[in-house]
Amino acid sequence: MASVGGLCERDLLPPQTEPSGLGIFWTRTPRSCGTSSFGASSNGACSMDDREPEGGCNARPFDGYSEERAERLAVLRNHVGTKSSTPEMSRVRAPRKGGKRHHNVANGNGSLWISSQDGDDSENCNADGMKRLRPKLLRGLPSYVKIVEVGPRDGLQNEKSTVPTSVKVELIRRLAASGLPVVEATSFVSPKWVPQLGDAKDVMSDVRYCKSRCRFPVLTPNMKGFEAAVEAGAKEVAFFTAASESFCKANINCSLEESLARYRLVCKAAKERNIPVRGYVSCAIACPIEGPMSAAKVAHVARELYDMGCYEISLGDTIGVGTPGTVAPMLEAVMAVVPVECLAVHFHDTYGQSLVNILIALQMGISVVDSSVAGLGGCPYAKGATGNVATEDVLYLLNGLGIQHNVDLNKVIAVGEFICNQLGRTSCSKTAVAEMGKLKAEKAKM
Ligand SMILES: [Zn+2]
Repeated sequence: MASVGGLCERDLLPPQTEPSGLGIFWTRTPRSCGTSSFGASSNGACSMDDREPEGGCNARPFDGYSEERAERLAVLRNHVGTKSSTPEMSRVRAPRKGGKRHHNVANGNGSLWISSQDGDDSENCNADGMKRLRPKLLRGLPSYVKIVEVGPRDGLQNEKSTVPTSVKVELIRRLAASGLPVVEATSFVSPKWVPQLGDAKDVMSDVRYCKSRCRFPVLTPNMKGFEAAVEAGAKEVAFFTAASESFCKANINCSLEESLARYRLVCKAAKERNIPVRGYVSCAIACPIEGPMSAAKVAHVARELYDMGCYEISLGDTIGVGTPGTVAPMLEAVMAVVPVECLAVHFHDTYGQSLVNILIALQMGISVVDSSVAGLGGCPYAKGATGNVATEDVLYLLNGLGIQHNVDLNKVIAVGEFICNQLGRTSCSKTAVAEMGKLKAEKAKM
């Protein structure tokens, strides 16, 4: 399988799609669903294992101790051998009396360095440490997670200051260059509703020529939007409805059933053109108008989207109020009617619960996560709701868990800095703030 920039073709394709072409996804044979609890097989392997990159591409399956980690360990060893070791590194090397002790230190990439007390940071020691660090709860995690970057659409549409088209295009280009497999580029909604994305056609006319393996789906709220998107060169589309009737009315100006009928038409038209469709279910946990959502209702809407042909259904905690206590039952209900490999999670970070909710979703077998660079965004219909979970923070989490994603965290941090400067705001990514702070401190020392 061909690989480009550390990505293999398989990473870039929708689930259940063969490398021979995107169109084939329409021949999907629904897999059994709801038969295995939390998507994990009896031997502890995740049911998503068939989606991880395989041999033949640059991407290596995570084996608990990759070459990259070995290189970084070598760098760490060199550092430690010099007087320039940081306090963190000193902790790694601090000699201890008595038997072997292990010290775990998070490095800037979120991976865990494990070192023995005698200064012999042997690979065996690290590998053993990793094995010990994979207790029961972490063994069922997917080996690979696909990040769907929604910053240019979901993020920017909720930013107050108007962003010039050229900045949007540059943002998308830089995100694609970081290795992200999917960047939702814009939305073909009426500029009356979302003035920020009124330049969707112009954005797409540039992005369509972007020489990248990244996919650039666009949001299309109806047939008119779909036609405009296809005309502008969109190769993949997405649409969203909500589990809440009131949110549907407020956000897309129609009832839930009307929205589903509308999207059936879009799906039919997309199928005729071999265009993959992604569906969103907003308010999967709660609605700003109706309050808590029933998991059964969310499952019903997700199943409708699946039945009409969506290759992936993203379950959105639009107002960011969920905790594992509400997220797990919702996911369980949806997984009973939609195959787990067709599901994604989309968390806003209003109450700071996104990462823990993502961890729960991963433990349940979900391996597609939506996120937004620098945590851009919000929700115009939910006062106080913040942006999506920051892509940088999700990458840091995945690094720490040893889950492959093929995205360059440092590049995403740089993109976050770029767009925050343009917007005149600070990053909502704790990882970005921490790393930029470290960088500034190092520069100040020089
Ligand atoms: Zn969102």
